[in-house]
Amino acid sequence: MSERTAPRTATLRARAEIDLAALRANVRTLRAHAPGAALMAVVKSEAYGHGAVPCARAAVAAGASWLGTATPEEALALRAAGLPGRIMCWLWTPGGPWREAIEADLDVSVGGMWALEEVTRAARGADRPARVQLKADTGLGRGGCPPGDWADLVRAALRAESEGLLRVTGLWSHFACADEPGHPSIAAQLDRFREMVAHAERQGVRPEVRHIANSPATLTLPESHFDLVRTGIATYGISPSPELGTPADFGLRPVMTLSASLALVKQVPGGHGVSYGHRYVTPGETTLGLVPLGYADGIPRHASSAGPVLVEGKWRTIAGRVAMDQFVVDLGGDAPAPGAEAVLFGPGDRGEPTAEDWAQAAGTIAYEIVTRIGTRVPRVYVNEEQDG
Ligand SMILES: *Cc1c(COP(=O)(O)O)cnc(C)c1O
Repeated sequence: MSERTAPRTATLRARAEIDLAALRANVRTLRAHAPGAALMAVVKSEAYGHGAVPCARAAVAAGASWLGTATPEEALALRAAGLPGRIMCWLWTPGGPWREAIEADLDVSVGGMWALEEVTRAARGADRPARVQLKADTGLGRGGCPPGDWADLVRAALRAESEGLLRVTGLWSHFACADEPGHPSIAAQLDRFREMVAHAERQGVRPEVRHIANSPATLTLPESHFDLVRTGIATYGISPSPELGTPADFGLRPVMTLSASLALVKQVPGGHGVSYGHRYVTPGETTLGLVPLGYADGIPRHASSAGPVLVEGKWRTIAGRVAMDQFVVDLGGDAPAPGAEAVLFGPGDRGEPTAEDWAQAAGTIAYEIVTRIGTRVPRVYVNEEQDG
């Protein structure tokens, strides 16, 4: 039998290979960048598209003593999957699952009075005090308690602590411009953070951890490390910003390789329009390859006529528009067999493009490229075994 009948698995169409050895090595590298601090692996949004539970397990195995998520549901799912140790979540809305979070021993972020009231109420019926981390808005202008309201929030938290309803386990904040070294907001936020922490400690707060550093601050700003650093994108081996350096400059290795099998290769004459809107017209007789991934899989439509793909050792560019499920590359007369591998991005050491190349092609950041890869693309985990 020479013909392949039905695909054995969905991985024949496309796959996101997740190299857990690279992830573990990144965690160890990041710990070395912040030797005086504990490390929180931020695994929100399915670990930036890499898969929350396997990545969280690998991060813990490599020495991450904290896990961080945005939503409480994400954090509860990690606990339900058996992840031990400290898990923190910070994006709460009124009516959130406070009681479940307390009973799952999560650290919950509180940045305002409404949240403090809700968590305190939930703690009255729970079997243990809530672990509450007070979030200061030191200048990001997004979540967190503004300096003018901080004294009231600290006072109310200490009152609840004295009633045994909660413990203030952390004082924390988040940077606006840590990926732009020297930006004046960085020093201003650090000053404000120190002041807000000092105020809370003078009032009697005894936090286990004080933290403000994300990936770029972990990599470039040692004075921001405090007790804990929260690394997201760098955990996945991607530089927070190409201006800061490449992953290799920081000793990091990209974890995700996105590839697909060519669904069709065909010869077409010159002057042939390609894909919706005919935004690409073949300049002469050529071959086209059909890549079975589209914007439903997270391939940005903004990468139309721009996104790079490695096919048989050569970089090809998307020809015309990215459709929902597929796009086309001009193979310039080459005729790989159907099923030949098309690598969209990876670490780059086989000559393939990187997520950063796709970010440039689509006018976005590499965070968005990996995070948006959809659920229709199976994650294939490699190097799951601990390597010491
Ligand atoms: C997403 C996030 C992080 C991680 O940011 P990276 O730049 O990916 O390291 C850290 N802290 C908070 C509050 C976040 O929301």
